[in-house]
Amino acid sequence: MNEVKTPKKPLLFYYAIVIGVLLLFNILVTPRMFSPHIQEVDYGTFVRMTEEKDIGMVQIESNQIVFTDKSGEEFYKTGVLEDGELVNRLQEAGAQYGSEIVEEASPIISFLISWLVPILLFVGVGQLLSKKMMKKMGGPDSMMFGMGKSNAKIYVKSSSGIKFSDVAGEDEAKENLAEVVEYLHNPKKYTEIGASMPKGILLVGPPGTGKTMLAKAVAGEASVPFFSISGSEFVEMFVGMGASKVRDLFKQAKEKAPCIVFIDEIDAIGKKRDGHFGGNDEREQTLNQLLTEMDGFEGNTGVMILAATNRPESLDPALLRPGRFDRRVPVELPDLKGREEILKVHARRVRVSPEIDYSAVARMASGASGAELANVVNEAALRAVRENRRMVTQADMEESIEVVIAGYQKKNAILSNKEKLIVSYHEVGHALAAALQKNTAPVQKITIIPRTSGALGYTMQVDEGDQHLLSKEELTAKILTFVAGRAAEEVVFGSVTTGAANDIEQATKLARAMICRYGMSEDFGMVAMEQMTNQYLGGDASLTCSPETQTKIDEAVSKLVQEQYEKAVSMLRENKPKLDELAKHLYEKETITGETFMDILYKRM
Ligand code: ADP
Ligand code: ZN
Repeated sequence: MNEVKTPKKPLLFYYAIVIGVLLLFNILVTPRMFSPHIQEVDYGTFVRMTEEKDIGMVQIESNQIVFTDKSGEEFYKTGVLEDGELVNRLQEAGAQYGSEIVEEASPIISFLISWLVPILLFVGVGQLLSKKMMKKMGGPDSMMFGMGKSNAKIYVKSSSGIKFSDVAGEDEAKENLAEVVEYLHNPKKYTEIGASMPKGILLVGPPGTGKTMLAKAVAGEASVPFFSISGSEFVEMFVGMGASKVRDLFKQAKEKAPCIVFIDEIDAIGKKRDGHFGGNDEREQTLNQLLTEMDGFEGNTGVMILAATNRPESLDPALLRPGRFDRRVPVELPDLKGREEILKVHARRVRVSPEIDYSAVARMASGASGAELANVVNEAALRAVRENRRMVTQADMEESIEVVIAGYQKKNAILSNKEKLIVSYHEVGHALAAALQKNTAPVQKITIIPRTSGALGYTMQVDEGDQHLLSKEELTAKILTFVAGRAAEEVVFGSVTTGAANDIEQATKLARAMICRYGMSEDFGMVAMEQMTNQYLGGDASLTCSPETQTKIDEAVSKLVQEQYEKAVSMLRENKPKLDELAKHLYEKETITGETFMDILYKRM
């Protein structure tokens, strides 16, 4: 795709260079160019040269004496001393008195040199730069230095543009957007019947799910120009600039219609306007301008605005009302099938071994976004190169999923033997608890190789397919599995370590959600006591109940987790021989697969 970009000029940088050059010029060049090189000598030398009659011209000034030797070629200067005999001695030596041995540059000329030339140079460079920019920004009517000009990049249509086929999964979103493509191809079909396309379409979903890609794909499929700008680019230091950028963007877009305008991160300008807190004038003006522009053009001018956000709940309602962004297309995290397709799409770009089981890889990468999956394929290819192989293998894929999830292996992290043993027991505790319960996902792999993310080891469980519903039993089983690591430490060593921090966090989160959101506790019943905010960005929750209830919730959460912990402890106590055997094996091998784990657990029981 040919992108015609308008790069931002670092103006300051150019001026810094100019100033630097001028300084050098002033320090080094000016004084020398207009005066001969004058050697500074002491008064004694002057007297000696006078006595030796090796003296030509002399010029006595108030603060220095400048003189030449007999030949008049060498120039000297010295300070002035109270010397009554000086004139006599000079007379004797046959010196001539001059007043212009060293011609001082006339004050006018020196003024010109030290002031006017730099200023002229300065202005000259400025002019040159601004002219250059104006040309780039499209004509002299633009404001000085392109201020207020939009930085929307124009993506000229080209045959290599992104198509819907490059965006894997996301079938619903594609279906929805296909209509837009159809409209851009053949607007008449719609206008004849009196239907008008929505002016704006909002793509909503977590980061890295392909929203930008989809917008580009719409432009690619319809072969129309694609303008893209990020919401944060509108928000400038100067009030009014953002609004002027919006105006400009729409002016450009209307000239190029039919076309797609894509505004990424629209929440940066489209946040709810609130009167208090002094407000953010710049952002509000920008938003107002955007609203005005969107109202200003008719539905069928062929300008289609796509915008992306992962915080839809924070958008100003005015932006979402009909006639503006009235259609909302969810772009969710890919499901199992979607993940498999995304992996395949990206694997087209690398040389892969034919026996890669994409479905297995996709299962391991549960919860990964499109961007993360693209990263997985790339990491796998890098790993293949590192190991001097010519193809990406299944093992590369699996390892790179771990890299993307848990970070690289930390080769130089040296655990003491005691620590290694504790980590082994901890991980086997998780794995054993998972295996001994119903309602849990099978163990895929256990490892105690430290990762750069800080994990000293981990147990990977992989579900067979996507799970859309989780039962209460499954959730409790998950909590038990989380706390089983710590339980193993207690059962075996009688003391506990910091290694369980992350487990505790996850167990607590789950327990709290069960009580506050899923209505799974007898004490509280089906009352929502928590509200999700930011569902696409990790999902924070805010409590919506009285302080008294909060206290009770805290108690209930702690009770729920504690119960599961006690169950885990007794479960591991009962299976202590297996726990020992497995931990010993893991300690020696450092990584064991789910199969080996199951073999040890069941076959030789
Ligand atoms: P978003 O705008 O939703 O944050 P992007 O569209 O910028 O995400 O996606 C980032 C990268 O992730 C893309 O360049 C692409 O390589 C990859 N990607 C994301 N989703 C998909 C998908 N559905 N199919 C193929 N690649 C994807
Ligand atoms: Zn753990």
